[in-house]
Amino acid sequence: MNNLLVMKFGGTSMGSAERIRAVAEICAGQSRSRRVVTVVSAMSKITDLLLNTLRHAEAGDAAGVEANRTQLENRHLETCAALLPAAQQPPVEAEIRALIGEFMRIAGGIRMLGERPPRSVDEAIAIGERLSALLLASYLESQGYRSEAVNAAEVIVTDAVFGNATPLMEPTARKAEVRLRPLLEAGALPVVTGFNGATEDGRPTTLGRGGSDFSASTLAAALDAGELYIWTDVNGIMTADPRLVPNAAVLDEVTYAEAAELAYNGAKVLHPRTLAPLVASNIPAWSKNSFDPARPGTAIVARLQSPGGPRAVTSMTNVALLSIEPLSGEIHGTRLMARALEALVRSSAEVLAVSSSSYRQNFCFLVRTDELAGALECLEEEFSLELTHGYVAPVGVDENVGLLAVVGEGMKGSPGVAGRIFTAISRENVNIIAIAQGSSELTIAIVVRQDGVEKAVRAIHEECRMAERAGVRVAG
Ligand code: ASP
Ligand code: MG
Repeated sequence: MNNLLVMKFGGTSMGSAERIRAVAEICAGQSRSRRVVTVVSAMSKITDLLLNTLRHAEAGDAAGVEANRTQLENRHLETCAALLPAAQQPPVEAEIRALIGEFMRIAGGIRMLGERPPRSVDEAIAIGERLSALLLASYLESQGYRSEAVNAAEVIVTDAVFGNATPLMEPTARKAEVRLRPLLEAGALPVVTGFNGATEDGRPTTLGRGGSDFSASTLAAALDAGELYIWTDVNGIMTADPRLVPNAAVLDEVTYAEAAELAYNGAKVLHPRTLAPLVASNIPAWSKNSFDPARPGTAIVARLQSPGGPRAVTSMTNVALLSIEPLSGEIHGTRLMARALEALVRSSAEVLAVSSSSYRQNFCFLVRTDELAGALECLEEEFSLELTHGYVAPVGVDENVGLLAVVGEGMKGSPGVAGRIFTAISRENVNIIAIAQGSSELTIAIVVRQDGVEKAVRAIHEECRMAERAGVRVAG
Protein backbone atom coordinates (compact mmCIF):
# COMPACT_ATOMS: atom_id res chain seq x y z
CA MET A 1 0.00 0.00 0.00
CA ASN A 2 2.04 2.91 -1.25
CA ASN A 3 -0.03 5.80 -0.06
CA LEU A 4 0.68 4.74 3.51
CA LEU A 5 3.14 6.66 5.68
CA VAL A 6 4.42 5.26 8.98
CA MET A 7 5.79 7.91 11.35
CA LYS A 8 7.59 7.44 14.64
CA PHE A 9 7.97 10.15 17.27
CA GLY A 10 10.61 9.81 19.98
CA GLY A 11 10.38 10.69 23.67
CA THR A 12 11.49 14.32 23.29
CA SER A 13 9.02 14.84 20.44
CA MET A 14 6.28 13.57 22.82
CA GLY A 15 7.75 15.29 25.89
CA SER A 16 5.04 17.84 26.76
CA ALA A 17 1.55 19.02 25.85
CA GLU A 18 3.09 21.56 23.53
CA ARG A 19 5.21 18.91 21.80
CA ILE A 20 2.25 16.53 21.47
CA ARG A 21 0.29 19.33 19.76
CA ALA A 22 3.15 19.75 17.29
CA VAL A 23 3.13 16.00 16.65
CA ALA A 24 -0.63 16.01 16.08
CA GLU A 25 -0.22 18.83 13.60
CA ILE A 26 2.35 16.83 11.64
CA CYS A 27 0.04 13.76 11.68
CA ALA A 28 -2.95 15.79 10.58
CA GLY A 29 -0.96 17.51 7.83
CA GLN A 30 0.30 14.23 6.39
CA SER A 31 -3.13 12.62 6.66
CA ARG A 32 -4.49 15.09 4.12
CA SER A 33 -2.62 13.38 1.32
CA ARG A 34 -2.17 9.80 2.54
CA ARG A 35 -2.94 7.29 5.22
CA VAL A 36 -0.84 7.55 8.34
CA VAL A 37 0.13 5.12 11.09
CA THR A 38 1.85 6.83 14.00
CA VAL A 39 4.18 5.05 16.43
CA VAL A 40 5.15 6.78 19.66
CA SER A 41 7.79 6.47 22.34
CA ALA A 42 6.97 7.13 25.97
CA MET A 43 7.28 10.78 27.04
CA SER A 44 10.96 11.66 27.63
CA LYS A 45 12.52 10.05 30.76
CA ILE A 46 9.40 7.98 31.51
CA THR A 47 10.92 4.60 30.63
CA ASP A 48 13.82 5.34 33.00
CA LEU A 49 11.34 6.34 35.70
CA LEU A 50 9.37 3.11 35.25
CA LEU A 51 12.52 0.98 35.39
CA ASN A 52 13.72 2.85 38.45
CA THR A 53 10.36 2.22 40.14
CA LEU A 54 10.68 -1.51 39.52
CA ARG A 55 14.17 -1.45 41.07
CA HIS A 56 12.74 0.24 44.18
CA ALA A 57 10.00 -2.40 44.23
CA GLU A 58 12.51 -5.23 44.00
CA ALA A 59 14.47 -3.73 46.89
CA GLY A 60 11.27 -3.49 48.96
CA ASP A 61 11.48 0.31 49.05
CA ALA A 62 7.81 1.26 49.29
CA ALA A 63 8.49 4.97 49.79
CA GLY A 64 10.62 5.08 46.63
CA VAL A 65 7.87 3.36 44.66
CA GLU A 66 5.26 5.83 45.92
CA ALA A 67 7.40 8.87 45.15
CA ASN A 68 7.86 7.65 41.59
CA ARG A 69 4.17 6.89 41.19
CA THR A 70 3.38 10.48 42.13
CA GLN A 71 5.83 11.75 39.50
CA LEU A 72 4.37 9.42 36.89
CA GLU A 73 0.81 10.51 37.63
CA ASN A 74 1.63 14.20 37.78
CA ARG A 75 3.50 14.26 34.49
CA HIS A 76 0.68 12.55 32.57
CA LEU A 77 -2.24 14.20 34.35
CA GLU A 78 -0.70 17.64 33.92
CA THR A 79 -0.06 16.97 30.23
CA CYS A 80 -3.65 15.77 29.84
CA ALA A 81 -4.95 18.91 31.55
CA ALA A 82 -2.84 21.16 29.33
CA LEU A 83 -3.78 19.26 26.18
CA LEU A 84 -7.51 18.61 26.29
CA PRO A 85 -10.61 20.77 26.72
CA ALA A 86 -11.95 20.46 30.29
CA ALA A 87 -15.02 18.45 29.29
CA GLN A 88 -12.89 15.80 27.61
CA GLN A 89 -10.42 15.37 30.44
CA PRO A 90 -12.25 13.10 32.93
CA PRO A 91 -12.45 9.91 30.82
CA VAL A 92 -8.80 10.27 29.72
CA GLU A 93 -7.74 10.97 33.31
CA ALA A 94 -9.52 7.79 34.34
CA GLU A 95 -7.63 5.84 31.67
CA ILE A 96 -4.33 7.33 32.79
CA ARG A 97 -5.06 6.26 36.36
CA ALA A 98 -6.10 2.79 35.20
CA LEU A 99 -2.85 2.31 33.23
CA ILE A 100 -0.76 3.53 36.16
CA GLY A 101 -2.80 1.19 38.38
CA GLU A 102 -1.85 -1.67 36.08
CA PHE A 103 1.79 -0.68 36.41
CA MET A 104 1.51 -0.47 40.20
CA ARG A 105 0.00 -3.96 40.39
CA ILE A 106 3.00 -5.40 38.55
CA ALA A 107 5.35 -3.34 40.75
CA GLY A 108 3.50 -4.75 43.79
CA GLY A 109 4.08 -8.29 42.56
CA ILE A 110 7.77 -7.56 42.08
CA ARG A 111 7.93 -6.21 45.63
CA MET A 112 6.41 -9.38 47.04
CA LEU A 113 8.74 -11.59 44.99
CA GLY A 114 11.83 -9.52 45.73
CA GLU A 115 12.90 -10.00 42.12
CA ARG A 116 12.12 -8.66 38.66
CA PRO A 117 11.14 -11.44 36.24
CA PRO A 118 12.00 -10.14 32.74
CA ARG A 119 8.51 -10.70 31.35
CA SER A 120 6.90 -8.73 34.18
CA VAL A 121 9.38 -5.92 33.54
CA ASP A 122 8.46 -5.89 29.85
CA GLU A 123 4.75 -5.77 30.59
CA ALA A 124 5.25 -2.99 33.14
CA ILE A 125 7.53 -0.67 31.18
CA ALA A 126 5.35 -0.71 28.06
CA ILE A 127 2.91 1.35 30.15
CA GLY A 128 5.00 4.44 29.25
CA GLU A 129 4.16 4.06 25.55
CA ARG A 130 0.54 3.17 26.32
CA LEU A 131 0.22 6.44 28.23
CA SER A 132 1.78 8.57 25.48
CA ALA A 133 -0.28 6.85 22.76
CA LEU A 134 -3.42 7.53 24.80
CA LEU A 135 -2.54 11.23 25.10
CA LEU A 136 -1.84 11.71 21.40
CA ALA A 137 -4.90 9.76 20.23
CA SER A 138 -7.15 11.64 22.69
CA TYR A 139 -5.79 14.96 21.51
CA LEU A 140 -6.31 14.06 17.84
CA GLU A 141 -9.89 13.09 18.66
CA SER A 142 -10.44 16.37 20.49
CA GLN A 143 -9.33 18.11 17.30
CA GLY A 144 -11.99 16.32 15.27
CA TYR A 145 -9.86 13.48 13.82
CA ARG A 146 -10.79 9.87 14.22
CA SER A 147 -7.99 8.25 16.15
CA GLU A 148 -7.34 5.23 18.32
CA ALA A 149 -4.50 4.27 20.65
CA VAL A 150 -3.38 0.74 19.79
CA ASN A 151 -1.27 -1.42 22.10
CA ALA A 152 1.44 -2.99 19.92
CA ALA A 153 1.11 -6.17 22.02
CA GLU A 154 -1.95 -6.75 19.79
CA VAL A 155 0.01 -6.24 16.58
CA ILE A 156 3.73 -6.94 16.84
CA VAL A 157 4.47 -10.63 17.33
CA THR A 158 7.96 -11.34 18.66
CA ASP A 159 10.18 -14.14 19.85
CA ALA A 160 10.39 -14.70 23.61
CA VAL A 161 13.67 -12.87 24.29
CA PHE A 162 12.25 -10.62 26.99
CA GLY A 163 13.92 -7.22 27.11
CA ASN A 164 15.39 -7.55 23.63
CA ALA A 165 12.79 -9.33 21.52
CA THR A 166 12.82 -9.59 17.72
CA PRO A 167 9.60 -9.19 15.72
CA LEU A 168 8.42 -12.10 13.58
CA MET A 169 7.42 -10.65 10.25
CA GLU A 170 4.70 -12.99 9.01
CA PRO A 171 2.47 -13.17 12.07
CA THR A 172 3.00 -9.43 12.58
CA ALA A 173 1.86 -8.70 9.03
CA ARG A 174 -1.26 -10.82 9.59
CA LYS A 175 -2.11 -9.06 12.84
CA ALA A 176 -1.41 -5.63 11.38
CA GLU A 177 -3.90 -6.36 8.57
CA VAL A 178 -6.56 -7.37 11.09
CA ARG A 179 -5.97 -4.68 13.70
CA LEU A 180 -4.77 -1.64 11.73
CA ARG A 181 -6.05 -1.97 8.16
CA PRO A 182 -9.75 -1.49 9.08
CA LEU A 183 -8.87 1.66 11.03
CA LEU A 184 -6.95 3.04 8.05
CA GLU A 185 -9.76 2.18 5.70
CA ALA A 186 -12.19 4.01 7.94
CA GLY A 187 -9.97 7.09 7.64
CA ALA A 188 -8.77 6.93 11.25
CA LEU A 189 -5.30 7.76 12.59
CA PRO A 190 -4.04 4.79 14.60
CA VAL A 191 -1.46 5.68 17.27
CA VAL A 192 0.53 2.55 18.04
CA THR A 193 2.78 2.10 21.06
CA GLY A 194 6.46 1.82 20.17
CA PHE A 195 8.88 -0.46 22.03
CA ASN A 196 6.58 -3.37 22.90
CA GLY A 197 5.05 -6.48 21.40
CA ALA A 198 3.98 -9.92 22.53
CA THR A 199 4.92 -13.51 21.81
CA GLU A 200 2.74 -15.71 19.66
CA ASP A 201 1.02 -16.98 22.83
CA GLY A 202 0.47 -13.47 24.14
CA ARG A 203 3.30 -12.92 26.64
CA PRO A 204 4.34 -9.23 26.66
CA THR A 205 7.82 -8.34 25.36
CA THR A 206 9.89 -5.26 24.55
CA LEU A 207 12.35 -4.72 21.71
CA GLY A 208 15.19 -3.24 23.80
CA ARG A 209 15.92 0.36 24.85
CA GLY A 210 15.27 2.83 22.08
CA GLY A 211 13.28 0.13 20.30
CA SER A 212 10.40 2.32 19.09
CA ASP A 213 12.32 3.02 15.87
CA PHE A 214 12.43 -0.73 15.32
CA SER A 215 8.67 -0.98 16.04
CA ALA A 216 8.01 1.62 13.38
CA SER A 217 10.17 -0.01 10.71
CA THR A 218 8.59 -3.37 11.53
CA LEU A 219 5.11 -1.92 11.03
CA ALA A 220 6.18 -0.14 7.86
CA ALA A 221 7.34 -3.46 6.42
CA ALA A 222 4.32 -5.36 7.77
CA LEU A 223 1.90 -2.92 6.13
CA ASP A 224 4.05 -2.44 3.02
CA ALA A 225 4.17 1.31 3.60
CA GLY A 226 5.40 3.74 0.97
CA GLU A 227 7.67 5.62 3.41
CA LEU A 228 8.82 5.75 7.01
CA TYR A 229 9.55 9.00 8.85
CA ILE A 230 11.57 8.78 12.07
CA TRP A 231 11.00 12.05 13.94
CA THR A 232 13.58 13.05 16.55
CA ASP A 233 14.94 16.29 17.99
CA VAL A 234 17.87 16.69 15.59
CA ASN A 235 17.99 17.67 11.92
CA GLY A 236 18.94 14.24 10.62
CA ILE A 237 21.94 11.96 10.49
CA MET A 238 25.13 13.97 10.81
CA THR A 239 28.68 13.65 9.57
CA ALA A 240 29.85 13.69 13.22
CA ASP A 241 28.62 14.48 16.71
CA PRO A 242 28.21 18.29 16.63
CA ARG A 243 29.36 18.50 20.25
CA LEU A 244 32.77 17.24 19.14
CA VAL A 245 32.85 18.77 15.67
CA PRO A 246 31.25 22.22 15.50
CA ASN A 247 31.01 22.21 11.69
CA ALA A 248 29.42 18.74 11.47
CA ALA A 249 26.73 18.74 8.79
CA VAL A 250 23.48 16.89 8.16
CA LEU A 251 23.85 14.23 5.48
CA ASP A 252 21.31 14.52 2.67
CA GLU A 253 21.29 10.80 2.05
CA VAL A 254 22.69 7.65 3.56
CA THR A 255 22.19 4.02 2.64
CA TYR A 256 20.48 1.50 4.91
CA ALA A 257 23.89 -0.09 5.49
CA GLU A 258 25.56 3.22 6.38
CA ALA A 259 22.76 4.17 8.74
CA ALA A 260 22.98 0.79 10.46
CA GLU A 261 26.77 1.08 10.83
CA LEU A 262 26.49 4.60 12.22
CA ALA A 263 23.79 3.58 14.70
CA TYR A 264 25.75 0.51 15.71
CA ASN A 265 28.90 2.55 16.29
CA GLY A 266 27.36 5.08 18.59
CA ALA A 267 25.38 7.64 16.53
CA LYS A 268 22.27 8.20 18.63
CA VAL A 269 19.73 9.01 15.90
CA LEU A 270 18.49 5.51 15.16
CA HIS A 271 18.15 2.20 16.91
CA PRO A 272 20.67 -0.09 15.14
CA ARG A 273 18.11 -2.75 14.27
CA THR A 274 15.70 -0.30 12.62
CA LEU A 275 16.99 -0.70 9.10
CA ALA A 276 16.75 -4.48 8.74
CA PRO A 277 12.99 -4.72 8.07
CA LEU A 278 13.19 -1.96 5.44
CA VAL A 279 15.89 -3.51 3.30
CA ALA A 280 13.89 -6.46 1.97
CA SER A 281 10.92 -4.30 1.00
CA ASN A 282 13.06 -1.34 -0.08
CA ILE A 283 10.99 1.19 1.88
CA PRO A 284 12.71 4.59 2.00
CA ALA A 285 13.04 6.15 5.45
CA TRP A 286 13.67 9.73 6.55
CA SER A 287 15.26 10.98 9.73
CA LYS A 288 13.54 14.29 10.53
CA ASN A 289 13.36 16.91 13.28
CA SER A 290 9.91 17.33 14.87
CA PHE A 291 11.08 20.70 16.23
CA ASP A 292 11.73 21.92 12.70
CA PRO A 293 9.46 19.87 10.44
CA ALA A 294 10.00 21.91 7.29
CA ARG A 295 13.61 20.71 6.98
CA PRO A 296 14.04 17.74 4.67
CA GLY A 297 16.22 15.71 7.07
CA THR A 298 18.23 12.71 5.94
CA ALA A 299 16.92 10.21 3.40
CA ILE A 300 17.81 6.59 4.13
CA VAL A 301 17.76 4.63 0.91
CA ALA A 302 19.06 1.46 -0.72
CA ARG A 303 21.59 3.18 -3.01
CA LEU A 304 23.19 6.60 -3.15
CA GLN A 305 22.74 8.76 -6.21
CA SER A 306 26.45 9.50 -6.17
CA PRO A 307 29.14 7.54 -4.38
CA GLY A 308 30.25 9.22 -1.21
CA GLY A 309 33.55 7.90 0.17
CA PRO A 310 34.09 8.30 3.92
CA ARG A 311 30.95 10.17 4.92
CA ALA A 312 30.64 10.20 8.67
CA VAL A 313 32.66 9.47 11.77
CA THR A 314 31.29 8.31 15.11
CA SER A 315 32.98 7.61 18.40
CA MET A 316 32.30 5.75 21.61
CA THR A 317 34.26 6.12 24.84
CA ASN A 318 32.27 3.80 27.10
CA VAL A 319 34.20 0.82 25.74
CA ALA A 320 36.97 -1.49 26.95
CA LEU A 321 39.53 -3.61 25.18
CA LEU A 322 39.92 -7.22 26.33
CA SER A 323 43.05 -8.95 25.14
CA ILE A 324 44.02 -12.57 25.22
CA GLU A 325 47.50 -13.87 24.70
CA PRO A 326 48.58 -17.51 24.56
CA LEU A 327 51.92 -18.10 26.31
CA SER A 328 52.50 -21.62 25.11
CA GLY A 329 53.25 -22.54 21.52
CA GLU A 330 51.10 -25.59 21.99
CA ILE A 331 47.93 -23.55 22.12
CA HIS A 332 45.89 -23.46 18.92
CA GLY A 333 45.31 -19.77 18.34
CA THR A 334 42.20 -20.04 16.19
CA ARG A 335 40.59 -22.48 18.60
CA LEU A 336 41.39 -20.15 21.45
CA MET A 337 39.69 -17.31 19.61
CA ALA A 338 36.65 -19.47 18.88
CA ARG A 339 36.36 -20.36 22.54
CA ALA A 340 36.74 -16.72 23.55
CA LEU A 341 33.93 -15.74 21.18
CA GLU A 342 31.73 -18.54 22.53
CA ALA A 343 32.36 -17.27 26.04
CA LEU A 344 31.41 -13.76 24.97
CA VAL A 345 28.21 -15.08 23.41
CA ARG A 346 27.34 -16.69 26.75
CA SER A 347 27.94 -13.41 28.55
CA SER A 348 25.68 -11.77 25.92
CA ALA A 349 28.20 -8.93 25.60
CA GLU A 350 28.27 -7.41 22.15
CA VAL A 351 31.66 -7.54 20.44
CA LEU A 352 32.13 -4.16 18.77
CA ALA A 353 35.45 -4.94 17.10
CA VAL A 354 37.90 -7.81 16.90
CA SER A 355 41.54 -7.51 16.06
CA SER A 356 44.28 -10.10 15.96
CA SER A 357 47.90 -10.42 14.98
CA SER A 358 48.85 -13.69 13.50
CA TYR A 359 52.46 -13.90 14.65
CA ARG A 360 51.98 -13.93 18.40
CA GLN A 361 48.42 -15.17 18.07
CA ASN A 362 47.21 -12.60 20.55
CA PHE A 363 43.89 -10.97 19.88
CA CYS A 364 41.58 -8.42 21.38
CA PHE A 365 37.89 -7.64 21.56
CA LEU A 366 36.20 -4.35 22.14
CA VAL A 367 33.10 -4.45 24.38
CA ARG A 368 30.92 -1.85 26.06
CA THR A 369 32.02 -0.86 29.58
CA ASP A 370 28.69 -1.90 31.06
CA GLU A 371 29.13 -5.37 29.60
CA LEU A 372 32.77 -5.67 30.65
CA ALA A 373 32.35 -7.41 34.02
CA GLY A 374 30.12 -10.13 32.56
CA ALA A 375 32.41 -10.62 29.57
CA LEU A 376 35.51 -10.91 31.75
CA GLU A 377 33.84 -13.39 34.05
CA CYS A 378 32.84 -15.66 31.16
CA LEU A 379 36.31 -15.46 29.58
CA GLU A 380 38.06 -16.31 32.85
CA GLU A 381 35.71 -19.19 33.44
CA GLU A 382 36.27 -20.51 29.91
CA PHE A 383 40.07 -20.35 30.25
CA SER A 384 40.35 -21.24 33.93
CA LEU A 385 42.51 -24.27 33.23
CA GLU A 386 44.86 -22.45 30.85
CA LEU A 387 45.08 -19.49 33.22
CA THR A 388 45.95 -21.66 36.22
CA HIS A 389 48.68 -23.44 34.29
CA GLY A 390 50.05 -20.31 32.71
CA TYR A 391 49.25 -21.36 29.12
CA VAL A 392 47.38 -18.12 28.62
CA ALA A 393 48.32 -14.72 30.06
CA PRO A 394 45.84 -13.10 32.46
CA VAL A 395 43.07 -11.51 30.38
CA GLY A 396 44.11 -7.94 29.66
CA VAL A 397 41.60 -5.17 30.32
CA ASP A 398 42.14 -1.66 29.02
CA GLU A 399 39.36 0.78 29.79
CA ASN A 400 41.31 3.84 28.74
CA VAL A 401 40.31 3.46 25.09
CA GLY A 402 37.77 4.83 22.66
CA LEU A 403 36.37 3.56 19.37
CA LEU A 404 36.27 5.62 16.20
CA ALA A 405 34.26 4.41 13.25
CA VAL A 406 34.59 5.92 9.80
CA VAL A 407 31.60 4.96 7.67
CA GLY A 408 30.89 5.28 3.98
CA GLU A 409 29.83 3.06 1.10
CA GLY A 410 32.16 4.81 -1.27
CA MET A 411 35.26 3.68 0.60
CA LYS A 412 35.05 0.38 -1.19
CA GLY A 413 37.84 0.15 -3.69
CA SER A 414 39.43 3.51 -2.92
CA PRO A 415 42.76 2.34 -1.49
CA GLY A 416 44.12 5.66 -0.28
CA VAL A 417 41.36 6.28 2.24
CA ALA A 418 42.65 4.24 5.17
CA GLY A 419 46.12 5.69 4.75
CA ARG A 420 44.83 9.26 4.78
CA ILE A 421 42.76 8.57 7.87
CA PHE A 422 45.69 7.06 9.77
CA THR A 423 47.99 9.88 8.76
CA ALA A 424 45.44 12.47 9.91
CA ILE A 425 45.18 10.75 13.28
CA SER A 426 48.92 10.45 13.78
CA ARG A 427 49.43 14.13 12.90
CA GLU A 428 47.49 14.78 16.10
CA ASN A 429 49.89 12.50 18.01
CA VAL A 430 47.08 10.11 18.80
CA ASN A 431 48.28 6.53 19.12
CA ILE A 432 46.36 3.86 17.26
CA ILE A 433 45.91 0.76 19.43
CA ALA A 434 43.93 -1.48 17.11
CA ILE A 435 42.34 -1.36 13.69
CA ALA A 436 39.51 -3.43 12.27
CA GLN A 437 37.89 -3.27 8.89
CA GLY A 438 35.10 -5.56 7.82
CA SER A 439 35.46 -7.10 4.38
CA SER A 440 32.51 -5.00 3.22
CA GLU A 441 34.83 -1.98 3.58
CA LEU A 442 31.88 0.01 4.80
CA THR A 443 33.43 0.86 8.14
CA ILE A 444 36.96 1.33 9.39
CA ALA A 445 37.01 0.88 13.17
CA ILE A 446 39.97 2.35 15.03
CA VAL A 447 40.73 1.99 18.73
CA VAL A 448 42.71 4.86 20.25
CA ARG A 449 43.57 6.17 23.74
CA GLN A 450 40.51 7.77 25.27
CA ASP A 451 42.06 11.24 25.52
CA GLY A 452 42.76 11.14 21.79
CA VAL A 453 39.20 10.43 20.69
CA GLU A 454 37.98 13.98 20.21
CA LYS A 455 41.11 15.13 18.42
CA ALA A 456 41.00 12.10 16.16
CA VAL A 457 37.33 12.62 15.29
CA ARG A 458 38.00 16.23 14.30
CA ALA A 459 41.08 15.26 12.32
CA ILE A 460 39.23 12.58 10.34
CA HIS A 461 36.24 14.84 9.73
CA GLU A 462 38.52 17.56 8.42
CA GLU A 463 40.81 15.30 6.36
CA CYS A 464 37.88 13.61 4.60
CA ARG A 465 36.07 16.94 4.11
CA MET A 466 32.91 15.37 5.44
CA ALA A 467 31.00 18.59 6.06
CA GLU A 468 31.66 19.84 2.52
CA ARG A 469 30.62 16.51 1.05
CA ALA A 470 27.49 15.97 3.17
CA GLY A 471 25.09 17.05 0.44
CA VAL A 472 25.20 14.52 -2.36
CA ARG A 473 21.53 14.56 -3.21
CA VAL A 474 20.92 15.41 -6.81
CA ALA A 475 18.42 18.21 -7.09
CA GLY A 476 14.99 17.44 -8.45
N1 ASP B 1 10.72 4.37 25.57
C1 ASP B 1 11.69 3.35 25.21
C2 ASP B 1 13.05 3.74 25.72
O1 ASP B 1 13.21 4.79 26.32
C3 ASP B 1 11.69 3.07 23.75
C4 ASP B 1 12.05 4.25 22.87
O2 ASP B 1 12.08 5.38 23.31
O3 ASP B 1 12.30 4.02 21.68
O4 ASP B 1 13.98 3.00 25.56
MG1 MG C 1 14.78 6.86 20.67
